[in-house]
Formats: sequence, C-alpha cells, structure tokens
Amino acid sequence: DCENALHHAKALGKSGRVMFDPAMHRQTVALLSIVNELRYAIERQQFCVHYQPVVDLASGAVSGFEALVRWQHPRKGLVPPLEFIPIAERLQLTIPIGAFVMREACRVAKQWREARPGRAGISISVNVSPQQFEQADLYEWVHETLRAAALDPSALKLEITESGILRNPENTVESLRRLKSLGIDVQIDDFGTGYSSLSYLHRFPVQALKIDRSFVIRIDGNGGGTIATAIIDLAHNLGMQVVAEGIETPEQLAFLKEKGCEYGQGFLFAKPMDEESAWRYLERQPKG
Ligand code: C2E
Ligand code: MG
Ligand code: MG
Repeated sequence: DCENALHHAKALGKSGRVMFDPAMHRQTVALLSIVNELRYAIERQQFCVHYQPVVDLASGAVSGFEALVRWQHPRKGLVPPLEFIPIAERLQLTIPIGAFVMREACRVAKQWREARPGRAGISISVNVSPQQFEQADLYEWVHETLRAAALDPSALKLEITESGILRNPENTVESLRRLKSLGIDVQIDDFGTGYSSLSYLHRFPVQALKIDRSFVIRIDGNGGGTIATAIIDLAHNLGMQVVAEGIETPEQLAFLKEKGCEYGQGFLFAKPMDEESAWRYLERQPKG
C-alpha cells in the first residue's frame, strides 16, 4: 500500500488532480508529508545513531556494536528506521542518511578505541542499503571516510542484505573484493529472509552471515532451531562466521552457543542505546 500511495503521490504531483478515494487521499497526503519532512530532516541532519552491543558468545565479551539510525523528529520524537529507510530508499535518499551514519560510526569507533587501550579491538557495523551498495564510488567513499576519521579499517564492518548483493552479483563480487582488500569485513544481514542465491554465496568474500531474528525467535527447545542450525552449518562450511540477531532468552543463547554460533546481539544483552549509554555499557564490561 506504501507502493500504491507513492504511485498516487507521483501521479498527484504530475497532474495536480484531486483524489476521490478519501482513504487513499489521506494515505497520499501522509506520505507526501513524510517525503517533505524527510528532505527537510536531511538538510537539518535530524538523525542520530544508536548502538547495540555485539557479543562474542564464547567469552561473553562485547566485540563491537551495530550502528542503528533513528530520525529525531521534532514532533514525533525518535522514529525507528523501518518507518523511513524503506521510503528513503525508494526516493534515493539513503546516500545522505548513510553518509551521516557512517561518519558518526567512525567517529565513535575512533573515540572508544582510543579512550581505553583495552578497547582497541572494538568494531562498529554499519548497515548499507542496496542503493548505497550500488554506488560506483562506494569503495572510494568508505576509504575517504575512514581516512578522515583516522580510523583503522578493522574497526568498520558493513552489513548488506541479500537483496542488496543479488541485484548485480558480478559487480558485488568485485565490490566485496575491493572492500576486503581495504581490510573491511562485510556481513550479510537478515540472512535467509531474502532470495539467497546459494550458487553465488561461496563466491562472495563475506566474513559472516547474520541469522535473522525470525529464525532465532523460533528456538524453543522443540526443534524450532532447525533453520538457525542450518545457517550456522552453511556459514561454517563456507568459511564464514555467524552473528545471531534478536537473542531474547537464555535458552536461545544456550542453543546458539552450543551450535557454535560465534556472535550474537539481542535484548537479552542490551537494546540499542544512545552514544553515552553505549559507552557506559562498554565501560561496565570486564576487559578482555
Ligand atoms: P537490522 O540491521 O537487522 O537491525 C536489527 C534490528 O533488530 C534493530 O532494529 C534492532 O533494534 C532490532 N533488535 C535487536 N535485537 C532485538 C531483540 O532482541 N528483539 C527485537 N524484537 N528486536 C531486536 P531497528 O534499530 O529498528 O532497525 C531496523 C532495521 O532498519 C535494521 O535491521 C536495518 O535494516 C535498518 N537500518 C537501521 N539503521 C540503518 C542505517 O543506518 N542504514 C540503513 N540502510 N538501514 C538501517
Ligand atoms: Mg543490520
Ligand atoms: Mg538484521
């Protein structure tokens, strides 16, 4: 229906005609206002980044954080990314938003790594939209952002969804190789929810697969962990590591650890937090 409303919004923009379906009209007006607000938000940089810890399951130590964008809306407060990233992606607006997130993530990684010598291994994962991933100058841009932040490439990981990498597999292989040559790890996000082309997977130089939360949620001690287990085995057979998303219960954690899943994140450890709180969280952890 978002699709539909957007289509109508475009038609409305072109012809200026009045819509007669009141429900559709309301939807269109709502969407148009989001579109305008989003453009304004980008001009004013009304975004902020929250950080969710990624935990090394074997040792329990925090290995890094995932950077998750929020829109600081003047009236609505913090708007979650799923309410605006898909729209931004359709409007080709993820480039400026993504640039903001990347700069913030690099700044924070630099700060945290330097604040304490024992934290020198901390990394931050940044989500990269398909549109960003397809930019011809992605490599140069990432390189330049790292350079400007004086940050070691090992501090940055990129997360890209299956749909993002499969739009153009040949270019993807090339992009991933170049990023890897810079020393940047790439992970496949929400693995198992898109159209995974298993025939390509072994050719992608990716460091890890992230098991989508929808598979972790099914781990209940009654055989619900079959898909999670299959993804772990697949990743390991391909020489990749695994990050489980959305771990909420001790049972899920125990199961994933037992199956050899290397990393995990989820509310069981911590929700995404603002920069201050994430730093305090890190400071509370025993140093490895
Ligand atoms: P994602 O990359 O798969 O991020 C994980 C999402 O799961 C986050 O939602 C996180 O808050 C949530 N989550 C983590 N642990 C748990 C848990 O234990 N239980 C539950 N119920 N949820 C958990 P969030 O922050 O709302 O982000 C949603 C999605 O928005 C992200 O999914 C990602 O696809 C996208 N996104 C976020 N930030 C960015 C960004 O900077 N750029 C782009 N392109 N997309 C982003
Ligand atoms: Mg992610
Ligand atoms: Mg995910």
